[in-house]
Amino acid sequence: MRNLNRRIAGVLALTLGVAVFAGACGDDDKTTADKKTTSTAAASFPSGSTMARIKAAGTIKVGVKFDQPGFGLKNPTTGSVEGFDVEIAKNIVEAIDPAVKIEFVESISKNREPFIQDGTVDMVVATYTINDTRKQVVDFAGPYFVAKQDIMVKKDNTTIKSVSDLAGKKVCTVTGSTSEKNLKAKAPTAQVTLFGTYSQCAEAMTDGRVEAVTTDNTILAGLVQSSGGAFKLVEAPFSDEPYGIGVKLADDVFREFINDQLEAIFKNGDWADAFDKTLGAIGLKTPTSPKVDRYKTGTAPAPSTTTTSTTIAS
Ligand code: GLU
Repeated sequence: MRNLNRRIAGVLALTLGVAVFAGACGDDDKTTADKKTTSTAAASFPSGSTMARIKAAGTIKVGVKFDQPGFGLKNPTTGSVEGFDVEIAKNIVEAIDPAVKIEFVESISKNREPFIQDGTVDMVVATYTINDTRKQVVDFAGPYFVAKQDIMVKKDNTTIKSVSDLAGKKVCTVTGSTSEKNLKAKAPTAQVTLFGTYSQCAEAMTDGRVEAVTTDNTILAGLVQSSGGAFKLVEAPFSDEPYGIGVKLADDVFREFINDQLEAIFKNGDWADAFDKTLGAIGLKTPTSPKVDRYKTGTAPAPSTTTTSTTIAS
């Protein structure tokens, strides 16, 4: 298991560190503040801004995953949610005001846009890929991490080595995720089982209801780790998944505040510390931080619609 984890760590470090993060850092022009100045400046915010509202309320609701080891996992003993996404959220909230209390709300993949739109949460930090489809209805700060979609199989599986091997196979992924879209585009004849969460997919693979699970490599690395040696990562990545922090569409002031804070923690070492103590604990090597994308709201092209057939599992 240790060796397997080391191997995963090595491959992920290589993939994430070299292929994805190459040239991703080093532009300090847009870094408006280090963490200390951001926190000090947090004493007053423009009236009517999301930061001012949150500071006055003294609480914030943050959407995170509850079942993804390394990113957002609810600890059954303490009841607290732990992981890299949780740490990123804490860093941002601290810059609004360290006294603000965070309420973490479970946001499964398909709930993320609706939860932001209807105000169930103030922001989502939940392995949430930035893309043009989602930019039609929400906006994103970040990215603060870049994953890649991969495949997880049982340890003794020797037939599935890449996405093309999923043709005709029973494969599990999650409703409303980019993993679902990518799978249907890259392996259109796969028999797709959709659940609400990746932990349900892992259970389905344990029971033999599906032969493979597909989503981001880092999420799968956490599931491999918690499988106690039953599962392995195929290590055949087939997409880039830049993770962003979802906020209300056109809330540019809040989005830019978060982007400033991300750049500050990339620079001051807090981002790397957060990675070390969460994903580092499951064997992943800390990559180079990505470059924040300060795109203009409302400029994402509307993606063309495609129809796909779906098997929904309950
Ligand atoms: N990052 C992908 C997404 O946002 C897959 C992981 C997830 O569903 O959280 O859809």
